[in-house]
Amino acid sequence: MANWISFARDKSDKPLVSAMNGGTVEESLNSDSKDNLIGFLKRFSGAGTFLVAKPDGSDSEVEAVELLPQSDSSASDDTNGTPDATWFQFFRNGDGQPIVIAMKDTNEVEFYKGNLRQALIDFLVRHSGANTFQIAPASISIPQGIPEWKPRTPTPTPPKPSGHRVILEIGHGPGVPFDPGAIAHDNKTTEHELNIIAANAARNVLVAAGVNCTVIDTPGSLRILGLKASGFDVFCSVHHNALRKGQNTAQRSEAFSHATKGEKPDQELASMISAEMSKTLGLIDGGAKQANLGVLSGAEDTNVRAAVLAEVYFIDFVGGTVKGKSFPKPDLKTSSSHGGEAIGRAIVDWLKKNPRK
Ligand SMILES: [Zn+2]
Repeated sequence: MANWISFARDKSDKPLVSAMNGGTVEESLNSDSKDNLIGFLKRFSGAGTFLVAKPDGSDSEVEAVELLPQSDSSASDDTNGTPDATWFQFFRNGDGQPIVIAMKDTNEVEFYKGNLRQALIDFLVRHSGANTFQIAPASISIPQGIPEWKPRTPTPTPPKPSGHRVILEIGHGPGVPFDPGAIAHDNKTTEHELNIIAANAARNVLVAAGVNCTVIDTPGSLRILGLKASGFDVFCSVHHNALRKGQNTAQRSEAFSHATKGEKPDQELASMISAEMSKTLGLIDGGAKQANLGVLSGAEDTNVRAAVLAEVYFIDFVGGTVKGKSFPKPDLKTSSSHGGEAIGRAIVDWLKKNPRK
């Protein structure tokens, strides 16, 4: 498979374009037709870069792809006026970089400096009235002072806004006094720190799916925090679990809805979050549970469509056997980040299943 393209002049000064695999010629095009060149370039999609051989140099064969780090200046729009060139001339710059100049008869229109095959195709296509190309002989120096054409840098397409809004509440934290939540197996990391990691990871997944997401970490009574769910589709309070006093081992993911105010949508979301977290972290699926949690009681008194509390995993578990299965001591930050992403995915899935009416 060719991995780069070489542009050279043959003995009769016609362009000789070669698809190269390292130092070996795979196939050549001996033509000055732009259409033939574009067809040739498109066939070798594995060749990311191109090079203009040293003019009249006998050592051009030794050049190989190692000499071709992908190089390009950054994006700009097409601002050089009408792309009205009639032909192209290929040069090799002093630094070895190709320079392709779009020419209108004997005048330079604009140039592309870079070695990317796809950018070259775009540049050739851009001047639709140009039909031929030449490799400049050594005797011609590269013209200066002409406008540069820069390829567009492909930007990732932003997600389509889903129209849904999610609020994530970071469990514990600010207040008087500050509430760190549980303490992890390292006797140092607090649940609050891990809740921040998980909530931000969930938010990243939601935002990437086009869901509007708000994360709060504010002081206030549990009821006041829950009331902030007003106007949102989903409220999720993000927590991590810890062993109860006297309990010596437990490791699972689970999620809660409110025991009396929670309804089917809340339970469905809790179940989906628990399943996705446990699958992602390789833990036991504790499933959808119900409890009289103050924060959910507040949320259920708003128009929010689903309100849950997630417990990602047990942060003070030191490794061992639970229900006949052995689980490692959790790597705290990694587990919380992956568990948070799982919360985000589960909420995205729930919103797809339950679009706003
Ligand atoms: Zn907690």
